[in-house]
Amino acid sequence: MRLDKLLSNMGVGSRKEVKALLKKKQVTVNGVVSKDSGEKVDPNNDEVAVNGEVIYYEQYIYLMMNKAPGYISATTDKREKTVIDLLGGDVQHFSPFPVGRLDKDTEGLLLLTNDGELAHELVSPKKNIRKTYYARINGKVTVDDITAFREGVVLEDGYKAKPGDLVILQSDAISEIEITITEGKFHQVKRMFEAVGKQVIYLKRLSMGKLELDPALKLGSYRPLTERELAYCM
Ligand code: URA
Repeated sequence: MRLDKLLSNMGVGSRKEVKALLKKKQVTVNGVVSKDSGEKVDPNNDEVAVNGEVIYYEQYIYLMMNKAPGYISATTDKREKTVIDLLGGDVQHFSPFPVGRLDKDTEGLLLLTNDGELAHELVSPKKNIRKTYYARINGKVTVDDITAFREGVVLEDGYKAKPGDLVILQSDAISEIEITITEGKFHQVKRMFEAVGKQVIYLKRLSMGKLELDPALKLGSYRPLTERELAYCM
């Protein structure tokens, strides 16, 4: 890998800034000053340092985000703001992408990574990963809805959803619920409620498998997964 690429990928600076550091003899490779931005380095074996500080190379990034409403779960879009717009330059250079999708108006737990293999595993329907959402529903949610979801409601296109676990937190003109499902079809939770004649007016993902949304994360903010959280995803 080129030395300037490694340094800019690790957030040391832009390629131009890295070039300036090299010119100022602030970069060493295995203890030897390098001034060559195109020098080939082995990120796993060569020791690259800037002003004596060793730069550890990481290929992958794993971020937990509390998705804010108004952003789409994509990497680029001509018209809409994407979840990538919520990321700082220090992590954008890893080229992360969202694992699975939350609707534009949905909030909550979204994992972003550049690890395609892990992302593929996590969204695979075969994995049956349990996803829990908190929702507010227009109208009273009843025990009949719990039963219907447990049996699997039929969506408007004739597809029978896999069983969902519905917990009623409050049944009122505006109800509050938690629902756990294993599927991730387009508008799944909203369509499941439509199937029982009700409308989701607020939706937030709380967890995916053992990975839980950090309650300290403000809307639109993110942080790297801890080792333990990453182990939950593997
Ligand atoms: N179900 C939905 O309807 N929307 C989401 O964003 C996620 C699950």
